[in-house]
Amino acid sequence: MSIKEFDSNYIANTYARFPLVLKEGSGSLVKDENGKEYIDMATGIAVNTFGYSDEEWTKAVSEQLFKLQHTSNLYYSEPCAMLAKALCEKTGMKKVFFSNSGAEANECAIKVARKYAAQKKGSDYHKIITLKNSFHGRTITTLAATGQDVFHKDFLPLTDGFLYVEANNIADLEEKINTNKVAAIMFEVVQGEGGVLPLQKDFIDYIKKISFEKDIITIADEVQCGNGRTGKLYGYMNYDIMPDIVSTAKGLGGGLPIGATLLSDKTKDVFAVSDHGSTFGGNPVCCAGALNIINRLDDNLLDEVKEKSKYIINELTNSKGIKNVTGLGLMLGIETENDASEVINNCIENGVLVIKAKSKVRLLPALNIPWDLLKKAVEIIKSACC
Ligand SMILES: *Cc1c(COP(=O)(O)O)cnc(C)c1O
Repeated sequence: MSIKEFDSNYIANTYARFPLVLKEGSGSLVKDENGKEYIDMATGIAVNTFGYSDEEWTKAVSEQLFKLQHTSNLYYSEPCAMLAKALCEKTGMKKVFFSNSGAEANECAIKVARKYAAQKKGSDYHKIITLKNSFHGRTITTLAATGQDVFHKDFLPLTDGFLYVEANNIADLEEKINTNKVAAIMFEVVQGEGGVLPLQKDFIDYIKKISFEKDIITIADEVQCGNGRTGKLYGYMNYDIMPDIVSTAKGLGGGLPIGATLLSDKTKDVFAVSDHGSTFGGNPVCCAGALNIINRLDDNLLDEVKEKSKYIINELTNSKGIKNVTGLGLMLGIETENDASEVINNCIENGVLVIKAKSKVRLLPALNIPWDLLKKAVEIIKSACC
């Protein structure tokens, strides 16, 4: 049997895979089982921040692997302490809880917000506002947080207490806050799965104002838009806001599973011993990899992200077959005249991996993609859109 046949026989039917078996990669290039090479403009959904088998990252990870691959959270270990310190120093947040995925980082954020509100205002203040068209994960609670019915059906009842506001609709948000006992507002500053849509500044300004006035916890879901992706270390840094909680994952680990929930001065001491935990959370190998990633997201690299973003947007906007380009930094969505799936398949045939977000073609290249590969990929994408 082929790998594809083994997979369809033995893997649960949850993924619509492209007909490719990926085998090995280097930087922004990856090869399939037949040796065909692709420029990777998707990085495993914004995970491989510096591409495949990046030398520095691989070294950091493998050195740690030879020392200590795991220890329970009953003991201290260096990599998670140093990663937490780096994350706090670079963001101004004060403490970190480590987990293993985006959904878990959001679960933690929701627990902190609920406990904060219960202690401060009473346990009836437990409603969490999220946005329509958002994506926050696949667990029963983060599905409830996800403001898209298509993900909910078949899994009801979900965790209670979530309210959905239309993105960028200030009146809707105001009305929901005034008529409910709200603990938190949770949002992606750039909705990823929802179609690569940045929130409008006036909407975020309003979130900032109302959450200050009413002592409502703000949770920035930076799972996809964080870790340098938008040209800032975290997506919220493109706006004048300091969230009370930041959740992140995907690109943080550079390819290894890690989730992190960053807590501000206001939320850092909400949890007490045994309020939360994770067996694998803070894994030393994952943290060593993440520390390497975080330390490399400096101003030079972020400027390069912005320059590459400008280049892609300039090249694709008004190009034949393209209606518009949305997003921030190297998190971009292309609305195409032809069906996005056809465009994507055409790109793949011509050696470029891109993925979908709703009805758009989504680009999430490695932050350090070399200019020559980026230019080549953009040309192939342009012709695939015609
Ligand atoms: C991918 C994603 C998640 C879920 O992350 P997992 O690691 O798959 O659990 C949550 N929020 C956002 C914004 C995401 O893009």
